[in-house]
Amino acid sequence: MEIGRMLLLMQRESSRRGAPVLSVESAIGRGPFAILVFTVLSARTRDETTMKAGRKLLARAPTPQGLSRLTAAQIQKLVYPVGFYKTKARHLHALAHKLISEFGGRVPSSFESLTSLPGVGRKTANIVLASAFGKHTIGVDTHVHRISNRLGLVKTKSPEKTNDILDKIIPNRYKKKLNISMVAFGQTVCTPLHPKCSECPLSKDCPKIGVRSSR
Ligand code: SF4
Repeated sequence: MEIGRMLLLMQRESSRRGAPVLSVESAIGRGPFAILVFTVLSARTRDETTMKAGRKLLARAPTPQGLSRLTAAQIQKLVYPVGFYKTKARHLHALAHKLISEFGGRVPSSFESLTSLPGVGRKTANIVLASAFGKHTIGVDTHVHRISNRLGLVKTKSPEKTNDILDKIIPNRYKKKLNISMVAFGQTVCTPLHPKCSECPLSKDCPKIGVRSSR
């Protein structure tokens, strides 16, 4: 199946099922700073939890300047109970100061500058570049990694390797939508355990690689 068609079917199905990640944009807006903060908070955390914590933090500190005025301990309290909240609070505190001292208080739009920020790795940088700056990058998290392997788009053991291959095989025009489409689909249909293959619009074309038990 053509990748554009595949992504469209994923989007339709996960939207019909109310995937949590699809309400993130309306909850946090599309500003680069909000997207960066949310993405840093989201690692290993459920979207509902990240959304609550992100909204609380951004209501108190909507800009890098505002965030830099909070202590790491204050940030910690605001973002609890996201996963690794202590580490993330430390990173966000340092990140705000670095945005001000090195980037004029703005979120930079290059991969190198973004990954120089505390707590920002390849996945986060690529999501911010795609979502906030419209660049042709793919943020590969566990959903994207898992679904790409099940569909046979890649045959890889790590998200990093998946990212390398998807970068080569996905046409630019689909890259920035790929993360949100697969994350939403992974939350609702192609779930980590027991994917809903019998209800999946891709089932006929999907080789279901590595799926041991499905519904
Ligand atoms: S058929 Fe199953 S494994 Fe394939 S994409 Fe759909 S839910 Fe995932």
